[in-house]
Amino acid sequence: MTARKSSPIALVIHGGAGVIERGQLSIADEREILADLNKALEAGHAALLSQGGSALDAVEAAVIALEESPRFNAGKGSVFDASGEHELDASIMEGHSRRAGAVAGVRTVRNPVRLARAVMEDSPHVFLIGAGAEQFADTQPDIERVANHWFDTDVRREQLKLTQALEQEQWQTSQDLRGRYFGTVGAVALDAHGRIAAATSTGGMTNKRWGRVGDSPIIGAGTWADDRCGVSGTGWGEFFIRNAVAHDICARVAYRGDSITAAAEDVIRNVVPSHGGDGGAVALDSDGNIAMAFNTLGMYRGWIRPDGSRGTAIYRDGDLHGS
Ligand code: ASP
Repeated sequence: MTARKSSPIALVIHGGAGVIERGQLSIADEREILADLNKALEAGHAALLSQGGSALDAVEAAVIALEESPRFNAGKGSVFDASGEHELDASIMEGHSRRAGAVAGVRTVRNPVRLARAVMEDSPHVFLIGAGAEQFADTQPDIERVANHWFDTDVRREQLKLTQALEQEQWQTSQDLRGRYFGTVGAVALDAHGRIAAATSTGGMTNKRWGRVGDSPIIGAGTWADDRCGVSGTGWGEFFIRNAVAHDICARVAYRGDSITAAAEDVIRNVVPSHGGDGGAVALDSDGNIAMAFNTLGMYRGWIRPDGSRGTAIYRDGDLHGS
């Protein structure tokens, strides 16, 4: 117990970055979102405190809790694609071993992050997609399957209708995809052994087609973990891929000695927008320092620091809840 108390464990999670304006969410909505973020923090923290609990277990548990919430664009509550269905992406990475697993375009896996971990641990591969990933899931008795419509929610169906109407009206200008994603989830943890892990899960972008895959399942873009640093990103995935965002943040820590905050803030606030993208990232380093950077109006987020202080927040300023 004593050893565990003095060990620097830390956890940081997100439920997506985007246009979240004050007044847009009712007080009741805000409360439910914060409660779901707290549930995810609890799940991750319990894993970190349990006997032998690893950072990997913590990020998986936190992301599963967020996938189970219909309020985020991952698992239940994922956005609809152009055909009115759902294709889900997820990835997970363990820093010290550099092991990683990812899946994209899965349609019947209730918790895609679990399948990503199974790819990492039970296959010789890192990244499986579509029908092949489903076939691999068939070999995994612990992976729960659901019908595709199980992921449906009314809010996301409404968003699909609005997006499709907008596209028809403004076909010439609708190449700006800002705001069609939002609500991707992720977690980064540091365990009592100093090991870091990161995971990200998403339904991707509303009205996506042609097998579009964003950054979330791409190691180095939406997710990264190494010995000193871990990152989970959220935002306009194409820009996160083009800038290898998650890896870039940790490379700055490793090669330049940047603090995790300086690295995350510079990449998210300068690099991504300089090419036209937007979004955010949560990150931590091996001392348990936490960064939560975003260039949008808000980012659903929650954290537990090594000193045990914890909190959740939605907007940029002034809505911090916690100790
Ligand atoms: N980054 C995700 C994607 O592009 C979406 C998000 O973060 O909300 O698929």
